[in-house]
Amino acid sequence: MAYDVIVVGIGGMGSATAWQLARRGQRVLGLERFDIPHAMGSSHGVTRIIRLPYYEDPAYVPLLHRAYALWRELEAATGERVLHTHGSLDGGLEDGVVFNGAIESARLHDLTHEVLTGEQVNARFPGYAMPAGMRFVLQPQGGYVMSERAIVAHVRAAQAAGAEIHARERVLGWEARAGGEGVVVTTDRGRYEAARLVLTAGAWMADLAPLLQGLAVPERQVLAWLQPQKPELFTPERFPVFNLEAAEGRYYGFPVVEVPGFKFGRYNHRQERMPAEAMNREVEAEDEAILRAFANRYFPHGTGPTMALRACLFTNTPDEHFVLDHHPAHRQVVVASPCSGHGYKFCSVIGEILADLATRDGTTPHDIGFLRLGRW
Ligand SMILES: Cc1cc2nc3c(=O)[nH]c(=O)nc-3n(C[C@H](O)[C@H](O)[C@H](O)COP(=O)(O)OP(=O)(O)OC[C@H]3O[C@@H](n4cnc5c(N)ncnc54)[C@H](O)[C@@H]3O)c2cc1C
Repeated sequence: MAYDVIVVGIGGMGSATAWQLARRGQRVLGLERFDIPHAMGSSHGVTRIIRLPYYEDPAYVPLLHRAYALWRELEAATGERVLHTHGSLDGGLEDGVVFNGAIESARLHDLTHEVLTGEQVNARFPGYAMPAGMRFVLQPQGGYVMSERAIVAHVRAAQAAGAEIHARERVLGWEARAGGEGVVVTTDRGRYEAARLVLTAGAWMADLAPLLQGLAVPERQVLAWLQPQKPELFTPERFPVFNLEAAEGRYYGFPVVEVPGFKFGRYNHRQERMPAEAMNREVEAEDEAILRAFANRYFPHGTGPTMALRACLFTNTPDEHFVLDHHPAHRQVVVASPCSGHGYKFCSVIGEILADLATRDGTTPHDIGFLRLGRW
């Protein structure tokens, strides 16, 4: 067989997996239907938040420690700076899940942190205008990953370790041989054989792994970048990334990085769930109005002219936790969910986990029991 492992989808997760496999000496073929990188999936828009006091579940924190270490390894391997840590703020409503979940994770995992009121946040970071009754966890290791650059860096590192990556080649289907070893992958350009297959197809996962129909559901999101009236308040050093739970919903945001605007978005923006192919990739006046209303209320110094707007895809599981597992019918096939709107920060460690599942005896030392398919 020409390849040990074929990785389908060279976005955030797939590019990391290709590197982790290639650096172990595996013969890797990575297949990507669009470009490296591109703006049709889930990883575009320059940056993604990384944060440690994980309100979604403290069980992610050990994975996050490893993710940080692997982002630094990628930087050392490629000379590309991808991880920037200037602090994160998680909170908002005092009785909300973001503040209370972040506190729980920080205490359970003994993370350096401070608890701040809304007024204290505004005094320390004057780009913010939080209501006094809000509460936040400030954590100094929070920050952002340069998401598109990291895909390119992972691909470069994978290629340097011997991986073959094909962009503009769409996978049409795959077949698993009986007995747990061997796959045949058919694309719009050819047919390839390998011992194992890793599916990291993001919002298209359910097309390639029908067992994920209803368990990996794409949802349209919109990102906005607005020019700050006071740009000095929105620099990475003075403006920590945030996850903010307000009465209107849950929002996230970033300092000015590359695009000359304060970047932010609303989780589950307009609740528009649909197959990836059917998604409206244009941004409409209503999308912008929803986001501007939020900035006007909570970040009044960051509401100048629009610099950019982008549609992007979440892909949600029913409990919004990831799926990392073998295909239940074919042990040589590994499936990864695109991670319900909070997965990018984990790409580096998910690459390692998927490489574990596709090599060794199919086991991983990481504790991923809570991310297995069997929970449904
Ligand atoms: C607006 C927005 C904001 C977000 N903010 C954050 C954040 O701040 N922090 C965070 O941690 N996470 C965040 N996320 C979530 C995170 O970005 C995703 O979990 C992550 O990007 C998913 O990576 P992926 O590799 O699964 O998907 P992708 O990067 O989209 O990769 C999937 C790839 O598979 C390819 N593919 C699909 N089908 C085929 C086929 N048939 N043949 C070949 N290739 C195929 C696609 O073209 C694509 O390149 C955000 C997501 C969005 C949309």
